[in-house]
Amino acid sequence: MTFELLRNGTLEERASLSMRASLRELAARIDRSMAKLLGLEWLGVVAIASWISPRTWNGTAHSIHPHLMTTLLMGPLIVGVPGVLAALRPSQVVTRHVVAVSQMLMSVLLIDATGGRIESHFHIFGSLAFLAFYRDWRVLITASIVTAIDHLIAGLWWPQSIYGVAVASPWRWMEHTWWVAFEDLFLIVLGQQSLREMWTLAVKQAQLAFGAGHDVLTGAANRLLLKERFYLDEAHSDSFRKAVLFIDLDRFKHINDTLGHGVGDRLLVLVARRLSRLVRSGDTVARIGGDEFVALIEGADQSVAETIAEHLVSGFNRPFEIDGTQLLLSVSVGISLAPEHGTELATLQQAADVAMYEAKSRGRNDYVLFSPSLLQREENTLRLKRDLAQALNREELHVYFQPQVNPDGRLKSFEALARWQHPVLGIISPTIFIPMAEASGLIVSLGEWVLRSACASCRQWQREGYAGVRIAVNVSAEQLEQDDFSERVATVLEEVALDPSLLTIEITESVLLRDVPKTLRHLNRLRAMAVQVVLDDFGTGYSSLSYLQDLRADGIKLDPSLVKRGLADNDMMLESIIEMAHRNGLQVTGEGIETADQGRMLRKIGCDLLQGYCYGAPMPPELIPAFLASFRKTQVWPVAV
Ligand code: C2E
Ligand code: MG
Ligand code: MG
Repeated sequence: MTFELLRNGTLEERASLSMRASLRELAARIDRSMAKLLGLEWLGVVAIASWISPRTWNGTAHSIHPHLMTTLLMGPLIVGVPGVLAALRPSQVVTRHVVAVSQMLMSVLLIDATGGRIESHFHIFGSLAFLAFYRDWRVLITASIVTAIDHLIAGLWWPQSIYGVAVASPWRWMEHTWWVAFEDLFLIVLGQQSLREMWTLAVKQAQLAFGAGHDVLTGAANRLLLKERFYLDEAHSDSFRKAVLFIDLDRFKHINDTLGHGVGDRLLVLVARRLSRLVRSGDTVARIGGDEFVALIEGADQSVAETIAEHLVSGFNRPFEIDGTQLLLSVSVGISLAPEHGTELATLQQAADVAMYEAKSRGRNDYVLFSPSLLQREENTLRLKRDLAQALNREELHVYFQPQVNPDGRLKSFEALARWQHPVLGIISPTIFIPMAEASGLIVSLGEWVLRSACASCRQWQREGYAGVRIAVNVSAEQLEQDDFSERVATVLEEVALDPSLLTIEITESVLLRDVPKTLRHLNRLRAMAVQVVLDDFGTGYSSLSYLQDLRADGIKLDPSLVKRGLADNDMMLESIIEMAHRNGLQVTGEGIETADQGRMLRKIGCDLLQGYCYGAPMPPELIPAFLASFRKTQVWPVAV
């Protein structure tokens, strides 16, 4: 029952489900009580027939036997039929009408057995009152009709008795009818009132039950309901097949940080809605944490689970719209299967979580099926975090440089990208260790080290005759939160004697809404020194150009996903972004350009700077001199632009 209640549907539907269930329970209870009561009444009538009747009887027959005999014979019928029905068909409409008929016949029997001494309407009123417990007015009508028929027949047969109201006097007849009608009306009004109260309760119960099983913000199921649904089937039965999909929103924190929690919350509601549309109707989508959802896929084997996971991932290709602004979001999904990876929800959730992390580390926007070898990697992550703390001292960190070229093919600058040469694991990507360093606070010293070494390299290029080749360095939000960030940058530039106008710092939108006044102070000081500021990964978050005005940035870097999308969809989005950026005096860098086609397309629509494997991958510092030399020789970019 609770489960039924918790199922989706409007509040009204859920409340009426609950109401129907309560009425069913009530009717079954009354059926049983009435069957017992009829039995007791019968015993009472037998006692009356054998004890009171001889004393009060003044009819024509000379003994009590006919009454006792009738009572004994009628009893099993009047008590037995409703008793059997109450046992076999509790709460059914037919049962309560049979009970009503029997109860009235029992009244008739009592009146007969006492020779009409018990005022009929008293007993009839009592019977109607019992039946009113059903809260079903139709039962009262049945009872009243039985009473009327009995009175009419008995009155014709025995006009001098109490039944003879119809012939005794019209007033007597009207009085009886009036009393029965009055009581029926009274009981029906009372019954309706009681039904209204039950309905109010049912609505409250449905609300409570829903609240207990659902997430307040998104209305998706919560952990409790997820658990309830998971254990609905017998865990050890052969048919126990389920898949658990752990779904995490990529870079949701970034959106929350940049746009505020209000927008984040609204986005979560839209995400929950989309997720529940992307799974099948019998499956459950639950929100189990901030931006974490779990989908429980019923009866799924590997291929079904993978198909649904793929559907989920691709279902996020379409942007979300909040206040007219388009937000692109992707998800990383981890899959675990029952019974292969466990039969307990907690185990499966953990396994799916590990797989989800693997999906994230493979570049997000993807799904991964759990395998035990991933656990090994999970443990590696912990080890990696410990190792990272030592990496700087052990000189395992390096800076690679990726060229950025003008549309005419001339080299303009390099972007400095950190690399970690792990003694055992080899080169580790910054997408793995930068977030770790950000979380531990290590990013402050690591970032400064990257800045110093990148600026030193740039100074070296100037000395070697490549005057004007610039350097771009990524800066994390955590660094900008330091009180002395801009002073440190100034110190570094001074120490390595690099002209500040050759430095560009790349920030992401996550710097906004952290400590905006402080960020702006730092950025203003940097700008005052002629350092340039560009916004990286434009197109992954809120990507509002108005934020750029607040920041007074010098340019934006289009996220690779935008570049790829632009070519695939041939849409106008990129073109209008570039046009708007130019109108606001912003330079546009295209990033992640892998093919000559993408490069051509970006140049055609006015991109100012191009970066990507097509023009050169990030390379270690020792390769740069040869690279620059080849560039000097040809004066144009060695790769076709
Ligand atoms: P980012 O600043 O957006 O850097 C661009 C990323 O795109 C780099 O990844 C680069 O190798 C990659 N890339 C370049 N060309 C292409 C291409 O044609 N196709 C594709 N698919 N990718 C391309 P990388 O080096 O792995 O860096 C990842 C991110 O790590 C960077 O993104 C940046 O946000 C962060 N990062 C790297 N070094 C530092 C650092 O010193 N400090 C901070 N705070 N973050 C850093
Ligand atoms: Mg960058
Ligand atoms: Mg970028």
